[in-house]
Amino acid sequence: MSPATSWRAETLAVTAGRPERPGAPLNTAPTFASTYRYGGEYDYGRFGNPTWSAFETALGILEGGHALAFASGQAALTSILETLPVGSTVLLPDSAYLGTRGYLDDVASRGRLVPRLIDMTDTDLTIDALTDADALWVESPTNPMLGIVDLAAVLRAGTDRGILTVVDNTFATPLLQHPLDLGATAVVHSATKYVGGHSDLLLGATVTRDGDLLQRLHTRRTFHGGIPGPMEAWLALRGLRTLPLRLGRAQDNAIQLARWLHDLPQVIQTRYPGLPDHPGHELAGRQMSGFGAILSLELSDARTADELVGRLQLIVDGTSLGGVETTIDRRNRWPGEERVPPGLLRLSVGIEHVEDLRQDLIQAFG
Ligand SMILES: *Cc1c(COP(=O)(O)O)cnc(C)c1O
Repeated sequence: MSPATSWRAETLAVTAGRPERPGAPLNTAPTFASTYRYGGEYDYGRFGNPTWSAFETALGILEGGHALAFASGQAALTSILETLPVGSTVLLPDSAYLGTRGYLDDVASRGRLVPRLIDMTDTDLTIDALTDADALWVESPTNPMLGIVDLAAVLRAGTDRGILTVVDNTFATPLLQHPLDLGATAVVHSATKYVGGHSDLLLGATVTRDGDLLQRLHTRRTFHGGIPGPMEAWLALRGLRTLPLRLGRAQDNAIQLARWLHDLPQVIQTRYPGLPDHPGHELAGRQMSGFGAILSLELSDARTADELVGRLQLIVDGTSLGGVETTIDRRNRWPGEERVPPGLLRLSVGIEHVEDLRQDLIQAFG
């Protein structure tokens, strides 16, 4: 029985990828196997695994394409970029994920790909720059500046040129925006973040409707060997089942905290697409079904920000995002993030009681 087409994301997150035969467990258990008896659906552990398949079916249904699981978001995104011919120019946001920029810098130093960083919130600039690009790499909202890119416009321009267009949908999750519907060739996820949701695993995925690209990505995964462990795939699917609940709660918390921080005199700027004075507010309202649960607050300088973080008792000082727990990260402390204002703190809002989060910030502001 395939899922009813009328089912909504909350229902699909719970039902997609379940075994259907009588006597089957409600979820595919982790299959720990390096090899299988010849002649069946699976033969060697690097080519496929039933636990990956269950996760891939569920994520694919939510995102609207065919998913492949990888060992990490990074393994997924580099696999897509490695399908490009040597010498290809990749247009990406100047605030793209650090690992994406780092990878492209690394391969650029060996002449394999040519990264071109631009302010992708500027739609005209992006469309102009596409003239000499072989691939378009998009993130929206961007990290950690929370810029919003006009997905429909830039993806349409990329499609018109016949180039590979990819959206890193990690921040929005498959619940808040659907880049494949807007023309993206592929979506990539760090399922380490919201999909897994409990800060206890690393996993990545690609999703596409392009059968040829799907095949090439499968080949890359098989030969590159960046495969997930069955336990990670199982945990990620378990996480996915509650994604709508977790994200909904985190987003409610984020909206309330953003509004409160926005009016606080110590905060120079609060960036959150859900705030009416955010430059991408209207666009985000059109292309997303919610504003997400990441926000950033900018304080006067690095020391003030570090001191605030040092006084927090509930909110965890740490990188990464998308977990049930609220984490805070002064991005400028990481090599490669020098362009981020030194006093900017990225807050990944979790599912705690919002009043406890606010009280923690109040006592830390002092
Ligand atoms: C974390 C992250 C990645 C990389 O994912 P890993 O699972 O850490 O390899 C890629 N893109 C974005 C937007 C991320 O936040």
